[in-house]
Amino acid sequence: MQHVEMIDLEKSYDNQKNVLNGINLAIEEGEFFVLVGPSGSGKSTLLRMIAGLEDITGGILKINDKVVNHLRPKDRNLSMVFQNYALYPHLTVEQNILFGLHAKKVEKKEQQKRLIETAEMMGLTELLKRKPKQLSGGQRQRVALARSVVSHAPLCLMDEPLSNLDAKLRAHMRIEIRRLQKKLGLTMIYVTHDQVEAMTMGDRIMVLNDGKIQQVGDPITLYNEPANLFVASFIGSPK
Ligand code: ADP
Ligand code: MG
Repeated sequence: MQHVEMIDLEKSYDNQKNVLNGINLAIEEGEFFVLVGPSGSGKSTLLRMIAGLEDITGGILKINDKVVNHLRPKDRNLSMVFQNYALYPHLTVEQNILFGLHAKKVEKKEQQKRLIETAEMMGLTELLKRKPKQLSGGQRQRVALARSVVSHAPLCLMDEPLSNLDAKLRAHMRIEIRRLQKKLGLTMIYVTHDQVEAMTMGDRIMVLNDGKIQQVGDPITLYNEPANLFVASFIGSPK
């Protein structure tokens, strides 16, 4: 069971005005959940709070019915892929993929097993000895995804993971990420500012503006029954 619940979640930085307000939300196990909204709306802040990388200044965050407000990131059993999925330039693809497992003290034999399996799944088997600079943008992105998948964490957080890729590759990677999420049965919380990405990938979508939830629903509902003008124009406007 990997379900995530937020109850009246709030965030302010340095006692300034709240950048997130009254976030009430339940994300189901195995769901592909998209957070979408314009730049500055609070998407990354919310994702980083779930990951444990930002303090929670109000409300309750639960993972699997357990309050995790003060749990350290490494004890939350999740993986995260960032926008600038920086790979270590001096390490090979293999070393990059396995990097997090050393810290987690996964034993060598298990590491090798997961490496082979993950590389196969992500189409990286032939590239394991290369350095990041010898890879294309799409290949680097796949390494970043592999690094997350290899952790076997049941909850995966992604913050605009495709924003550095060209349009064609982005379209391809959307499909790959969805396929991967389904195959592994991951609970996914996926951040984007791209309406098309949100509508094509999400089981459900939350539209965020100015730190407040505008609407939560499946793509068809959002499109056909937008809760307000903001949602209507944000979802409706072509990119
Ligand atoms: P998004 O990811 O949707 O673009 P962010 O979560 O990055 O939005 O930012 C939400 C708001 O919080 C913005 O007004 C931003 O300026 C502010 N903010 C983000 N990070 C910090 C920080 N470390 N310190 C102060 N303000 C921040
Ligand atoms: Mg952001």
